[in-house]
Amino acid sequence: MKTDVLIIGGGPGGSATAMFLVREGIKPIIVEAESFPRYHIGESMTGAGGKVLRDLGLADQMYKRKHPTKQGVKVYGQSAKGTWFVPVTGRDENWKLFEWDTWQVRRSDFDKMMLEEAVSRGATPIQGKAVKPLKGNGSITGAQIRMADSDKLEDIESQVLLDCSGQATWLANLGGFTGPKYLGAYDKQIAIFSQVVNTIRDNGGTRETHKDNTLIFYQKKYHWGWFIPLDEEVVSVGIVCPSAYFLDKKESKRDFYIRELRELHPELSRRIPEIKLVEDVHVIPNYSYQVNGFCGKGFICIGDAHRFIDPIFSFGLTVTMREGQFVAPIIRRYLEGANRDKPNPFADHQLFCEMGIDVLEDVLDSFWEHPLSFAHCVYSRYTEYMTDMFAGRIYAHERQPTPALLSFRKLLNREGEREQSYKSSDLYSIPIGSRYHPERAAIWEVNSPVETTETWMGPR
Ligand SMILES: Cc1cc2nc3c(=O)[nH]c(=O)nc-3n(C[C@H](O)[C@H](O)[C@H](O)COP(=O)(O)OP(=O)(O)OC[C@H]3O[C@@H](n4cnc5c(N)ncnc54)[C@H](O)[C@@H]3O)c2cc1C
Repeated sequence: MKTDVLIIGGGPGGSATAMFLVREGIKPIIVEAESFPRYHIGESMTGAGGKVLRDLGLADQMYKRKHPTKQGVKVYGQSAKGTWFVPVTGRDENWKLFEWDTWQVRRSDFDKMMLEEAVSRGATPIQGKAVKPLKGNGSITGAQIRMADSDKLEDIESQVLLDCSGQATWLANLGGFTGPKYLGAYDKQIAIFSQVVNTIRDNGGTRETHKDNTLIFYQKKYHWGWFIPLDEEVVSVGIVCPSAYFLDKKESKRDFYIRELRELHPELSRRIPEIKLVEDVHVIPNYSYQVNGFCGKGFICIGDAHRFIDPIFSFGLTVTMREGQFVAPIIRRYLEGANRDKPNPFADHQLFCEMGIDVLEDVLDSFWEHPLSFAHCVYSRYTEYMTDMFAGRIYAHERQPTPALLSFRKLLNREGEREQSYKSSDLYSIPIGSRYHPERAAIWEVNSPVETTETWMGPR
């Protein structure tokens, strides 16, 4: 089998990319290992994430399917009274800020809708698992697929392979195609989550008290919870904490989860008067990583397939779908003959994406390392710029780096360092913290003797 573009992974990244490619006149093949609908985490979207869906002409479907609309995020500090609210916003063509809404999604429904939509617009779905890439002339030339229906191996040749495999980081884990995969700064944390019913939501009188907003409960550094309405009844609730804390409790994941719902934060407990779970309790450790050299001859990794930092401000869906939007015209030009002779035909795209996610990393690091200065920037000093970053407007054409970001870089002692790293692809896509905390560097090294959270946890 042959195709111009082969997409590995039919999650939101793969499906959105496929739809943008179809707009460019390219009909890709999407290989997905699982049969949809299937459970997945990652349910709250930013303003820029919602804009991608609007750009794809999917807004009507999103409203019709009653995915809850989100008007903002309310963050509860250590005391239930200390809250701050970040409204969902957009920017018009004159860069004027306006109030907007975006969505929260039950991923089983949303991912199925996205994949079906991509197929109805011209993508070809194949159910199967990508086993290994095909190689030729120093380039990736396709992939070998284990077909779900026959269990047989089949080669699919492509001019461009897009790795949209999410946290499976398919290409990076095979080794030798991308650069090394580094553990990220938030690696030694763990997320434990499920879905609950019979919760108390806000009354909906203002944007801040809209009943379907995402709520965040901060207990202390690296220990927090989320509350994301998925429909009129069901709410996704998750707890994030250091893995060491989880291990220390010596509880089953279910017991740990239920106790945390009561103890993490008084406001979270108040909102769940009677704990009734309607989904299994899921656990994800090791979700923070970064892949160096994630584009190259014949391949591009998209979204989680090359980098994920920390879930607290819900950037994952935004990044993966936006990268798909950015890359589609670049792939069209490549198929028409552009950059064919370059060692990395997608080097500019790689740097562009990485600079955007670095903005997120600096925002997240500032939040955890300098919470008071961060709050000051949100409340008064740089409110508009902060709104942009929370909305996922993080790329160079979106006026980044803003003065707010530059002040965070100063605070983090990273002034100049980022710019310096962009001069060579050997320097960026390496977790920046390792340069400032040499004692922690080992956890970022490939084959590090320092244990990962997965190893710490052992079989449970
Ligand atoms: C605890 C936690 C909470 C999060 N909360 C949020 C949130 O609130 N908001 C948000 O925006 N993001 C959130 N995220 C991030 C979000 O989950 C991801 O960014 C998002 O799912 C990435 O989409 P994707 O399409 O790139 O990958 P995925 O959604 O993971 O899709 C990848 C697909 O590839 C398939 N696949 C994998 N390997 C193969 C293979 N070899 N062959 C064929 N198919 C394959 C998989 O079956 C899967 O369907 C969270 C992440 C974590 C860890």
